Amino acid sequence: MVLQTASLPSLQSLVASLGFPSFRAKQVHDYISRGVTDASLMTQLPRPLISSLLSAAVPSSLSLASERVSSRDGTTKRAYRLPDGQLIESVLMPYSSRNTACVSSQAGCAMGCVFCATGQMGFSRQLSADEIYEQVAAFDGLVKRERGDGRGVTNVVFMGMGEPLANYRNVMAAASRMNAELGIGARKITVSTVGLPPMIRKLAREPLQVNLAVSLHETNDTDRGELLPANKRYGGLTELMSAVKYYMDETRRRVTFEFALIAGSNDSPQDARRLGRLFREFRIPAAMCHVNVIPLNPSDGFREKKSSKAAVEEYCRVLVEEFKVSATPRMRRGIDIEAGCGQLKAEVLKKGGGKVFEEGLVLEGGMEQEIEGQRAAEEEEEEEAAAAAAAAPAAAPRATTSITSPSQTIAAEKKLRKLKNKLKQIAKLEGSPKLNDAQRAKVEARGEVEREIEELTYNLT
Ligand code: SF4
Repeated sequence: MVLQTASLPSLQSLVASLGFPSFRAKQVHDYISRGVTDASLMTQLPRPLISSLLSAAVPSSLSLASERVSSRDGTTKRAYRLPDGQLIESVLMPYSSRNTACVSSQAGCAMGCVFCATGQMGFSRQLSADEIYEQVAAFDGLVKRERGDGRGVTNVVFMGMGEPLANYRNVMAAASRMNAELGIGARKITVSTVGLPPMIRKLAREPLQVNLAVSLHETNDTDRGELLPANKRYGGLTELMSAVKYYMDETRRRVTFEFALIAGSNDSPQDARRLGRLFREFRIPAAMCHVNVIPLNPSDGFREKKSSKAAVEEYCRVLVEEFKVSATPRMRRGIDIEAGCGQLKAEVLKKGGGKVFEEGLVLEGGMEQEIEGQRAAEEEEEEEAAAAAAAAPAAAPRATTSITSPSQTIAAEKKLRKLKNKLKQIAKLEGSPKLNDAQRAKVEARGEVEREIEELTYNLT
C-alpha cells in the first residue's frame, strides 16, 4: 500500500489485517494529513505497528530523482521517478499569501508543441489519479512539515508535463480528491490546456468548478498550427474559441489565455489588435478574459528569441486600453508555463539516464537570480491584479449576448432584478457573525453575481 494516497477505509483494513485495533488507522491517517508518510516518524504508534507498516506499506509511489530549492524564496523544482521508471516534474512556488503547486498530468506529452521540452520528448503514458494527487500531497506535506506553514498547498495549476484534458478522467479524479482531502478550493485549481474543444465543453459541465487556462499563442490557424500541431488536429481556432465561449456561457467563469510572445513574430501592437478582434469575433466578452502575456521561454529545440520587456508592455497596453481586456505581463519563468516544463527531466536524463539524485541542491548564481526575478515579478503581478480587480468596475464590460427583441429585454430585466435581490441577501449575510456552508457559498459567489449584473446592465443599455 502507498501511504500518501491511502484512504481511511483502506488504512482500517490494513491495520486490521496487521492485528491492531481500528482507532490506530485514524492515528495513521492523521499523521498522513499532517504530511508525515514515513511510518518510522509516526512515533505515537506502538513499535510493533510501526514495524508492520514499514514492511506492509511504502510512503509514496513517487521517488525523488532530483530536487532544486531556491535558497532565497523556497521555490522547489522536483523530478520524480515513477515505479516503471518514468520521470515527471512538479514545482512548488511559495508566496506570502499562498502556496502554488504546478503538477504533471502525463509522463511526456503527445501534443508536440514545438517550443516545449516535454513536447519534444514525446508521450509515454497517462498518470494515474493517485500519481497526480501524490505530487500535490507531497508538496502539501513538505510545506506543513518542514516549513511549518499550516496552510499547506492552497493553489494547483496543471501546467507541468502533459496535456491535462487528454487525461481527463484521472485529472478530474485527482482534482476532486485535492478538494476533498487537502481542502484546496476548486476555484484554486486551474487546468491549462493547449485546447481540446470537446474536453473544454465537458469541463464546462463538471460539477467541480475548476478554472480554465488556454494556451493560445497565435491568432490564426496557420501560425498557431506551426507552434502547436494540435491546433489542426482539433479543428483549429474556430472550434477552440467556440468551445471557450460555450465554457464561459455555461460556467460564467473567467478564462485565462496564455500568450507566449516571440520577438518579431507575434509581439507587435497589430498582433495585440488581432487578438482583441479574435475575442470580439467569437463574442467573447472582455470582462470574461484575462491574458497572461509571457515572453517565450526558449528550449533546446526552439531557439526563437523572447520579446523585449517594452514589446510585452505595449502588447498589454493595446489589449487593456483599446479592447478593455485585462492583460498582464509575466516575466520569463520557465516553471509555471508549459514552455518551461520538461527541462528538469531533460537535465536529469542528460546527467545519467535518470539515475541522478540531488537533494537540497541550491541553485547556482544565475539561475537563482532568475527565479528571484520571476518571484519578484509574480509578487508584483499579484499586486497589479488586485489593483486591476479593484478598478475593474470602471471598465465597460462587453455584451455577452446581444438583446434584440422585447421578450429578451423583459427576460433580462427580470433576471437583473433577481440578481440585485441576491446581492442584497449577500450583503446581509456578510454582516452575520456565523454562516453555515450554504450561506458561505452564497457570500463567496458575490463576484460572479456582480459580474452578471454588470454584463446584464451593459447589455440593456
Ligand atoms: S506545452 Fe503542454 S501541451 Fe504542449 S507539448 Fe508541452 S506539455 Fe504538451
